[in-house]
Amino acid sequence: MQKICVFCGSSPGKGTQYKAAAIALGEKLAEQKIGLIYGGAKVGLMGEIAKTVLDRGGSVTGIIPRALVKKEVAFTDLPDLRIVNSMHERKALMSELSDGFIALPGGLGTIEELFEVLTWAQLGIHQKPCGILNVAGYFDAMIAFLDKLVHEKFMLEAHRQMIIVDDKADRLLEKFANYTYAEIDKAKWALDLKNS
Ligand code: AMP
Repeated sequence: MQKICVFCGSSPGKGTQYKAAAIALGEKLAEQKIGLIYGGAKVGLMGEIAKTVLDRGGSVTGIIPRALVKKEVAFTDLPDLRIVNSMHERKALMSELSDGFIALPGGLGTIEELFEVLTWAQLGIHQKPCGILNVAGYFDAMIAFLDKLVHEKFMLEAHRQMIIVDDKADRLLEKFANYTYAEIDKAKWALDLKNS
């Protein structure tokens, strides 16, 4: 793992635990010399993790659409801030530059980015690890819903198992380092279900 993309809230969330987790993950990334790729904002958990990695001498690449720079949320002090034309370009570049993807707590933007990389993993478009840092049980209800997808036969158990979950940053990074991608043919599974 040389570079990991972190999706997280452009808000800090309620209480202090989410900010503490963003800082803890940033510290681990810098310590393990893993570069941070992220959305390039200076606000919320995004700003916290970027500042932490930078302060500890780590590498940070921010990728932000022009429209958000104008709204003055860009972390303009970043040595590597890339300004792109659209949200689609941002996600494509984040994906291309990263060896794995972690979601910290966040809102719709975070969830949307996480589910995109998960569906791309399921389709075999990339073979990179995708994980969730489940800070203070923030994602419990979402994880339970993913299990329902499997139970109701809309998702393969093997695809569910691809999603790496932990509540500690160092353990999550260790699981990323040991991850191997297993190709599973979802189309064949869907056909088998149809014929059964
Ligand atoms: P949210 O979780 O809704 O706060 O959105 C955060 C995620 O979506 C980040 O990972 C960003 O890539 C993107 N995003 C959403 N809103 C913003 C914003 N105001 N500034 C920068 N990125 C944002």
